[in-house]
Amino acid sequence: MIYFDHAATTPPYEDVAKTVAEVMARHYGNPSSLHRLGEESAKLLDKAREVSAAALGVRPREIVFTGGATESNNMAIKGVALQFAGRGKHLITAATEHPSVLESVKQMVSWGWEATILPVDGDGCVTVDQVRAALRPDTVLVSVMHINNETGTVQPVEEIGRMLKTVAPRVMFHVDGVQGFGKLPLSLADSGIDLYGLSAHKLRGPKGVGLLYVREGLQLAPLLAGGGQEGGYRSGTENIPYIVAFSKALRLAAEGREARSTKLYRLRERLTRGLAELTELTVNSPAQGAPHIVHFSYPGMKAEALLHMLEEEGFFVSTRSACSSKRSEPSRVLLAMGKSKEVASSGIRISLGDEHEEQDIDALLAALRQSVKRLQALR
Ligand code: PMP
Repeated sequence: MIYFDHAATTPPYEDVAKTVAEVMARHYGNPSSLHRLGEESAKLLDKAREVSAAALGVRPREIVFTGGATESNNMAIKGVALQFAGRGKHLITAATEHPSVLESVKQMVSWGWEATILPVDGDGCVTVDQVRAALRPDTVLVSVMHINNETGTVQPVEEIGRMLKTVAPRVMFHVDGVQGFGKLPLSLADSGIDLYGLSAHKLRGPKGVGLLYVREGLQLAPLLAGGGQEGGYRSGTENIPYIVAFSKALRLAAEGREARSTKLYRLRERLTRGLAELTELTVNSPAQGAPHIVHFSYPGMKAEALLHMLEEEGFFVSTRSACSSKRSEPSRVLLAMGKSKEVASSGIRISLGDEHEEQDIDALLAALRQSVKRLQALR
């Protein structure tokens, strides 16, 4: 089987999986305990924070470990909104954000906040001018993702961040970085980003662990009250095995970023060239999209049937994002991009990883041609 669903989750590096088992078995002390076992765990936690901060190019005290990006996004949006409600009650985000952002914003709206949900263009992009035009005196937060998990659309987050720091320096800027880290460069130090979330399992690390970068000087209202771990932001005994393993995955993701990006773009190019030869197929991902995601539709063809046929041939792909693939409605991301209901209901997402090679792409294309022929014959 060849796994082409990296945007949903990634196969963990062997070394990372080994680290989880080793740390779990040996270093079970609670980092808050005063004895040696506790101190050892506290040291591992410190080291993991240093390694993670170095991978992101930020300071260790700016890293808050979380239970994944859903938590990071909730922590950022609601944490800012609760802390700064006195400044105003207006948020800005985009129509194609991940549900963990959009649903958090919706919750804020149900608590009396106002939200501007920016529409996207045909490529799924928002522009700096759109964000600037939506700013109000009572705007507290802007949240725009780096790379869309369904289509691979790259948002101009560095430009948005710089614009905000120039024209509205008090407005905070949150970026969901889940699909971008280790794929495309992004400088947190000079892009005006205040909050940035990641999930380990999208980077070949374990599930159930992530982080939120909180720019130094920024104070959020914590969502979890308790023992005050993670600088008071995330009470609860720290998950040392996963955090240590995550820091390893982050280091590997950062170190190999350029080579990975080049390789993935080469594979993506091969894939899109092959897809262009298939009639009736439309590619939904923008030409200038992320290196690892290609989304296409066969209007009129049942995407799920195609997915299972490809599975029979030995390939795991996905119909859209993992969080919404079990829903039968058309993709809200594609609808927001102005695609027809038919296109938005018949999508297949191929997401690549650094373990893939040219022959894997060729094999997938051959299986796709075969499966489409079979499905067309059934129509
Ligand atoms: N944001 C994006 C862009 C994602 O792709 C995902 C994972 N689908 C998340 C946030 C949430 O990550 P997790 O499920 O690990 O909490």
